[in-house]
Amino acid sequence: MKITNVEAIYVSQKVVRAQCDSGQDALIVKVSTDAGITGIGEVDSAPLAAKAVIEGPFSHTISTGLKHLLIGEDPFETERLWHKMYHRTIYSGRRGIGVHAMSGIDLALWDIKGKALGLPVWKLLGGGFQKQIRCYASSLFGATPKATGELAKRIRAKGFSAVKFGWVPMGTDAKTDVDLVRQARRGFGDDADVMIDAGLVWDARTAIQRAKAFAEFGIFWLEEPLPPDDYEGYAKLTAASPVHIAAGEQESGRQSFLDLMDKGRVDIAQVDLTRCGGFTEAMKIASLAADRGLKVANHGFSTYINVHAALHWLNAIPNALIAEFVVQENTSLREFLTKDHVRMKDGFLPVPDAPGLGLELNEEQVRKHRVA
Ligand SMILES: [Mg+2]
Repeated sequence: MKITNVEAIYVSQKVVRAQCDSGQDALIVKVSTDAGITGIGEVDSAPLAAKAVIEGPFSHTISTGLKHLLIGEDPFETERLWHKMYHRTIYSGRRGIGVHAMSGIDLALWDIKGKALGLPVWKLLGGGFQKQIRCYASSLFGATPKATGELAKRIRAKGFSAVKFGWVPMGTDAKTDVDLVRQARRGFGDDADVMIDAGLVWDARTAIQRAKAFAEFGIFWLEEPLPPDDYEGYAKLTAASPVHIAAGEQESGRQSFLDLMDKGRVDIAQVDLTRCGGFTEAMKIASLAADRGLKVANHGFSTYINVHAALHWLNAIPNALIAEFVVQENTSLREFLTKDHVRMKDGFLPVPDAPGLGLELNEEQVRKHRVA
């Protein structure tokens, strides 16, 4: 089998709100083959910059549009192709958008392999740890502590046993910060898990104070309280915090995760399959975490392609903790892009069983939402 084309499709909702919600647009990757099988993937990044990384021209031998490296190649050779893409974009890649773009292609290649063999990706990865994965409902905070409490109640009523709230207005001041957590806990109930995503708002000392204050409400983890490059701050925080510290969505590639784990000493590594380098790299990141006694969770705020990818991966590793599942109200794009939708049942997400990633694009809706 040979790859015949690689395409990156930028889709968006009509209205994109000024909030930290990457589910409002998406970059979908399609890899076609001469066997008539098309693989799909996704990149959650700066969409048109990632599209350029994929579809851009040959500039020189270590700065090349990824598409040109793949046409004519055998899609089964995922490990070799990952290294080819990494090496041939090293001038501009290695971290960030370069690896993000590779992620979408790697997911699509695994989708092709699964479709060709009639097997779900988790089986190709050697998995089978779980039949269903426990999930948490993921949302931005309400505008106020009170609104967050009401939102927590609405989410609990849907049947979730765990919830995470993130970003603005966390970081406003000590009283508001603690009140947000208090109301989240009050609204969601005592017999369930609450996680807090601070959204990069504090220095290490403030984060230590907040972690201690939030511990009173029994939170499951405190996520990304510090800027991602402040590894020293993360190490201080994790040493002093009574609650688990999670981070990783800003990292791409295993070297970057090694810094987070070994310098930052975080408790939980959060891996986004559409950003970290795809399945090929996520398996290695999970192994590096397992060797350090760490659990991993997925990060994913975008489409059901991302959710399916995460479920395959979490089912193929021994140290999966929980799956992120977005319930952001008023963000609807993900409902249109694929024919298959993921639904929570009794606090769990079912592991996909269809060949490949196990979901199909809704081509008509993709055309309708396509921007570039
Ligand atoms: Mg986060």
